[in-house]
Amino acid sequence: MSKSLTEERQKVSFNLQDLSNYIYEGEARYNKMMSAYKTLSEDPILRNDPSHHGRDRIELVKHAAKRTHRFHEVFNYSEADELIDVWNHFDQQLLASVSKFMFIPCIRILASEDQVQKYLEPALRMEILGAYAQTEMGHGSDVRSLETTATFDAKTDEFVINTPSLTATKWWPGELGLSANYCICFAQMIIEGKNYGVHGFMVPIRDLNTNKVLPGIQAGDIGPKFGYHTKDNGYLRFDNVRIPRDSLLRKYVEVTREGKFKRKGNEKIGYAIMMTTRSAINISCWKGMSQALTIGVRYSLIRTQFADESGKERKVLDYQLQQDKMITNLALTFAIHAGALRARDMINENIRRVLEKEDFSMMPDCHNILSGTKAFYSWESLDAINVIRMGCGGHGFSSYSGFTNIFQELSTNPTHEGENSVMVLQTARYLVKALETLRNGKRLPEIVDYLKDLDNVISGDLKLKAENVEGLCLGTLLEIMKVNAAYLVFSAGNALMEGAQEGGFKESWDKKAGLDLQEAARGHIYYYSFKAFKEKIEKDVKEANVRKVLERLCGLYALDKLVRYPQGLFESGYINAEQFKLLKKKRNLLLEELRPDAIGLVDAFGYTDNSLRSAIGTYDGNAYENLWRWVNTYNDFNKADWTETWEKYIKGLRYIKRPAPKL
Ligand SMILES: Cc1cc2nc3c(=O)[nH]c(=O)nc-3n(C[C@H](O)[C@H](O)[C@H](O)COP(=O)(O)OP(=O)(O)OC[C@H]3O[C@@H](n4cnc5c(N)ncnc54)[C@H](O)[C@@H]3O)c2cc1C
Repeated sequence: MSKSLTEERQKVSFNLQDLSNYIYEGEARYNKMMSAYKTLSEDPILRNDPSHHGRDRIELVKHAAKRTHRFHEVFNYSEADELIDVWNHFDQQLLASVSKFMFIPCIRILASEDQVQKYLEPALRMEILGAYAQTEMGHGSDVRSLETTATFDAKTDEFVINTPSLTATKWWPGELGLSANYCICFAQMIIEGKNYGVHGFMVPIRDLNTNKVLPGIQAGDIGPKFGYHTKDNGYLRFDNVRIPRDSLLRKYVEVTREGKFKRKGNEKIGYAIMMTTRSAINISCWKGMSQALTIGVRYSLIRTQFADESGKERKVLDYQLQQDKMITNLALTFAIHAGALRARDMINENIRRVLEKEDFSMMPDCHNILSGTKAFYSWESLDAINVIRMGCGGHGFSSYSGFTNIFQELSTNPTHEGENSVMVLQTARYLVKALETLRNGKRLPEIVDYLKDLDNVISGDLKLKAENVEGLCLGTLLEIMKVNAAYLVFSAGNALMEGAQEGGFKESWDKKAGLDLQEAARGHIYYYSFKAFKEKIEKDVKEANVRKVLERLCGLYALDKLVRYPQGLFESGYINAEQFKLLKKKRNLLLEELRPDAIGLVDAFGYTDNSLRSAIGTYDGNAYENLWRWVNTYNDFNKADWTETWEKYIKGLRYIKRPAPKL
């Protein structure tokens, strides 16, 4: 055990178990997760093996298939939210998970009761493995422009699914490449020449017993990617494939035997499905960050560089710049954690209301929060992981650090389940509508309550009081964040109106006001996340020392965002330059105050060494010994026979005929 980490652990100011209970929402869930991590770390097939770094994709996929099978033998996790707790144990994606994260929720939400009876149980038992086939080669975000068609044939009582062009090829859906035998295919529904828009159809695509692609269908894998190496993201084409009329998912729409189209409820229900996956993405963001930080902080405490006045080498975490990389990102992780859990609870309540009472009243708020959090959390978590790995110098660039897999697995988050820029603009659309609500004197939804004081903010009457900056508390920070968020929404509204005078609203939205709208969404999501974090501490934390450390992190989150993005505060005249300097000072002071607790903050996440998958971040801090062992045990490069390559090409360099070199 490293002496440095032992010393550091003795200095931690709070009880680790209390913080773990806060993170994992109680001891029972934490214990269940720890016991699962233990099983995963000890099982010969499920434990991580560093030699995977040298494997090619086909080998990786075969290995992932074996682990997927073993995983479901050992654990009886049929639902996605149970899987989430231990998902980040795996260095690569397991197979057959889209079925749980997307296909099953889609059945629950879009299928009629008899269809649920027919498909849900086989899907839960994994007899049917389904893909969510929406995106096409030519269109992703713009779902209305999908080209695949489902044409009703009244003579045979069937829909004919067809791919009319190259760009209509389904492209990207997870698990189309190998494992899915069914898909929910989104297609333009056409009846007697009239287009009724995009709807979901249950389509068998592979034989359940042989896995051979069914007649009229072409399906396969779309090739290597930036990450997700073991995921068989695929393509799918239909050549006039016939499916029974009953394949239309018909909880909310129906086509009668005579070909009459009927709506049975709110068509926006489809969004609810996207929301559950966006919520899972939010959770993956803080989980990935917590893994990266466990590695980064432990390494920064055993790594020493340059001597101090006494001649003793400093731990790199004692440098302020390193604290900014690690501790500021710890604050961000805890804020994302609180924001993600609140968003999850919101959508669970929303789905409950939709399914039980057809009550859609929470949809706009949920959509706003899920779109915005998904976008900013996925961008910021990736940025953070990159900063943390760069903060581990050369060893951070080695895949044995563990950062490569964490970064690659999260790097799809800004794109899938709603492309981030599109998500940000959807959040902004809600905010601009809220401005209109305010101007019409109507009641504002709670999530934009900060707009209530907008008149005072714009008039410049509202000023930050000097004494409030001196004795800065979380309550004051909330007020400051409110002003910032309100002004940014106002500013975006102005930019939009100005642009509209020249070329109309749509031109302005698409071409003039995008950046202002993005800043409004940013201010809104920072405010939301800070509020969620502050309120979670108030509600869930009883122990004084845990409360203190979390309040410091919460303060650091707010100050860091305000110092980096102070636009609304200055443009509104709410703060002056002196006050801004003070905010910066307070922010930096928090880095120092949190420094002794850094090791406790990461240990509380509870990763076993095997789940962390890092040579430089193990609990015992023996980074150098691990690196040496891994390089000599797992690195097939050193075992390969290089003689022929060396002789022919490397030694061969000296025999290339070239003009005499200039000396
Ligand atoms: C790993 C992975 C898994 C996936 N899994 C699935 C799946 O299971 N099922 C499925 O159906 N799909 C899946 N997808 C597809 C995914 O949903 C789409 O890639 C995503 O919706 C974005 O669509 P697109 O690629 O067509 O990007 P586009 O919509 O073409 O956007 C391209 C770029 O244009 C810009 N842009 C576009 N519109 C706007 C706008 N209005 N304002 C400002 N900028 C804009 C953005 O910068 C954007 O990045 C997956 C994708 C990935 C990477």
